[in-house]
Amino acid sequence: MNFDFTEEQKLFAEQVRRFAREHLAEGALERAHDPRFPFDVAQLMAKQGLLGITLPPGEGGQGGTLMDAVIAIEQVAAECPRSADVVQFGNFGPIRVFAEYGTPAQKQRWLADLLSGRTVMSLGMTEPDAGSAVTDLKTSARLDGAHYVIDGSKVFSTFSPEAQIFLIYVRFAPGLGGIGSVLVERGTPGFSIGKPSAFMSGEEWCELHFADCRIPAGNVLLGPGGFKKQMAGFNVERLGNTARSLALGRYAFNAARDYALTREQFDRPLCEFQGLQWKFADMAVKLESAQLLLYRAATNADRGLPSAYETAIAKTACNQIGFEVASEAVQIMGALGYSRDTLVEYCMRRTRGWMIAGGSIEILKNRIAEHVFDRRFDQRKRQAAPAE
Ligand SMILES: Cc1cc2nc3c(=O)[nH]c(=O)nc-3n(C[C@H](O)[C@H](O)[C@H](O)COP(=O)(O)OP(=O)(O)OC[C@H]3O[C@@H](n4cnc5c(N)ncnc54)[C@H](O)[C@@H]3O)c2cc1C
Repeated sequence: MNFDFTEEQKLFAEQVRRFAREHLAEGALERAHDPRFPFDVAQLMAKQGLLGITLPPGEGGQGGTLMDAVIAIEQVAAECPRSADVVQFGNFGPIRVFAEYGTPAQKQRWLADLLSGRTVMSLGMTEPDAGSAVTDLKTSARLDGAHYVIDGSKVFSTFSPEAQIFLIYVRFAPGLGGIGSVLVERGTPGFSIGKPSAFMSGEEWCELHFADCRIPAGNVLLGPGGFKKQMAGFNVERLGNTARSLALGRYAFNAARDYALTREQFDRPLCEFQGLQWKFADMAVKLESAQLLLYRAATNADRGLPSAYETAIAKTACNQIGFEVASEAVQIMGALGYSRDTLVEYCMRRTRGWMIAGGSIEILKNRIAEHVFDRRFDQRKRQAAPAE
């Protein structure tokens, strides 16, 4: 067992950090408050080889590991927290499921645009009546000749105001085995996109409506029975969410530490007050322990897709700790920390959302408890026994 980065990983981390310092540090505050997807950053990152890190070189990727992509999130977020979203989009989001399961024709059509940062993909999984209970989704796909006809609605899809291509979870038939996914392009007749709403973080999302929306049968990503595969791929997305939570918590921690070294009250720098020293010690313990869980899940995942259990443990820890640390950093920086003139309050708002997105911490804890007891706990109401 080795707790250090390899020489290659150290070099990669330094290169990404240098790139982020030179190109992303300036303008980090403005970027955080801009709801639009930063396509300029995506195009810069594409040139730097930071999109498609884990995809094979033959498909326009870098042939790297999931751990490399985690390192990229950490190094980018340390200079510009918002730009870490671009690393997420280009490596962990729906693009990863697409790259894993897409047909050669689908990849030929969309992958180059995605990996060059010219376009972005959005994931439509959640529905008004199917949030945590995602398998209750109703959006249907019905075969009609050489087409599928899609009907239904999706909510809360990140990047939906700007995305050109949408990965939509659909139901081909009743039951878990009837769930799969399709690719739908913006502008397809029968596909309408509502007006943007804002999350607490400032990010925007739109309702997606499908009414008699016909897509070519070749746009099916995973047919009936594809749900389990999709969720295995979705664990990669969860790790990106996990890595950003921790990275933004660490950003806030560093900002608060720098502040505590220079801000004086009662004729002393804040760092000399024991009440604050212990806060920093607690934060350091939390950040370091969560980081080990994240690295374990990402490193083991390099032998395949990440384990559901290790991902659940890492995401729960990093989501909670990222938010707790960012919130404590706001407290330590007083009114300045609470102000939009620093990025600390932004880190607090962003990390709060990841406790809900991509599998809420309650749902992940259900998964962890199943591992603890080595039993499956069905969350659904038990059917009453038929009367004799
Ligand atoms: C920032 C952000 C980005 C998102 N991006 C996307 C996206 O790109 N695409 C997409 O499809 N969706 C996206 N979502 C939606 C997200 O997937 C859902 O919010 C999530 O699945 C929870 O569903 P819900 O909000 O309907 O809450 P509900 O499922 O209604 O849950 C409400 C509360 O009850 C808890 N709860 C529910 N069931 C249980 C249970 N069995 N045991 C214990 N507690 C339970 C939940 O944890 C939660 O606290 C995003 C959400 C956020 C906040």
